[in-house]
Amino acid sequence: MNILVINCGSSSLKYQLINMDKEQVIAKGLAERIGIKGSVLTHKPAGKEKVVIEKPMKDHKVALSILLDVLVDEEYGVIKSMNEISAIGHRVVHGGEKFASSVLITDEVMEALNDCIALAPLHNPPNIMGIQACKEILPDVPMVGVFDTAFHQTMPKEAYIYPLPYEYYEKYKIRKYGFHGTSHKYVSERAASMLNQPIENLRIITCHLGNGASVAAIKNGKSIDTSMGFTPLEGLAMGTRSGNIDPAIVTYLMQKEGLTIEEINDVLNKKSGVLGISGVSSDFRDIEQAANKGNERAQLALKVFNYRVRTTIGAYVAAMGGIDVIVFTAGLGENSASNRKQICKELEFLGITIDDNKNNIRGEETVISTDDSKVKVLVIPTNEELMIARDTKEIVEQ
Ligand code: ADP
Repeated sequence: MNILVINCGSSSLKYQLINMDKEQVIAKGLAERIGIKGSVLTHKPAGKEKVVIEKPMKDHKVALSILLDVLVDEEYGVIKSMNEISAIGHRVVHGGEKFASSVLITDEVMEALNDCIALAPLHNPPNIMGIQACKEILPDVPMVGVFDTAFHQTMPKEAYIYPLPYEYYEKYKIRKYGFHGTSHKYVSERAASMLNQPIENLRIITCHLGNGASVAAIKNGKSIDTSMGFTPLEGLAMGTRSGNIDPAIVTYLMQKEGLTIEEINDVLNKKSGVLGISGVSSDFRDIEQAANKGNERAQLALKVFNYRVRTTIGAYVAAMGGIDVIVFTAGLGENSASNRKQICKELEFLGITIDDNKNNIRGEETVISTDDSKVKVLVIPTNEELMIARDTKEIVEQ
């Protein structure tokens, strides 16, 4: 059984075709600059050279049809016909309160997805466009929606209600939702299986540290708190996002700098985080390089980032009444040994000790804590696409 996993952004479409019998990626790729000049599809069949196709793509439907042509192409293709695609799994960013798990996409589900647009105006419309494009081109192939928010729907009310007038929760559904759920779920399940322990007995803190970054507290397999909130802007300092700040700063800055709503949103989402503090870059590799050369603001940006991850871990230890496992994942979490070391250094009081040699291993699932460390610390490369494919398979086989 082959499953096509689709992840649409406003001008991009990422895909993977996965053979579920072996859980192997047969081909993957990315269409970029959809709807703008210079559209391009980069397609990588497993074990072969990548192919770059430059063709106008006025919308996601055109991008999808080019990608499907490539999948069955005589030269670069990996399947003989569309019949070899059994189902399609779509990443959907916001499922609101309606979706606590993945679902088969029906007309009712489409309606509910449209209702969630107000909650994620930047993310959900391209996700919906991707689903519609598939529906038009492959009407008979079952589709499943997998939500970034679903895994966190187990949070207790005291974790997700903001101390605002309660009517805003009732009227506008303003509450904490949390994101990166597919990744937090995947790495927490992998952690339990690597440690050979039932997830029901573990208190796990998962740190998804990429350009966007979030931490989750997973008790007995269920998310009980996470650092992103109503939107992915809350929580940690990120590549370009501010994360938590005093909300009064927003109106103060708008007044002082004469900013509009769009402009302040731009400052908080695109000009803040480690980019804002360092003035160097949003990419941690550039910041680490500058910091090593003595750039003080780059050093400060890394310290602020690490401090926030560490204090969030501390808060979640309190939320779970203890901790057994910490997992690092995503671009920075998987690759930066120095970052992991800095975060864990002052957590020794919790019974956390890192083995420096193991911490330097890259690109594979590794336990990086010492054998006698009370809390196990793991690096696990995330795999959201595989998780989406697994959910899709399970639901279409029901
Ligand atoms: P997203 O999916 O949120 O865009 P990723 O999970 O791909 O982000 O992470 C991207 C980030 O990971 C980059 O911005 C970069 O800062 C960081 N990163 C990747 N490789 C390294 C590395 N070797 N050392 C430090 N940081 C890295």
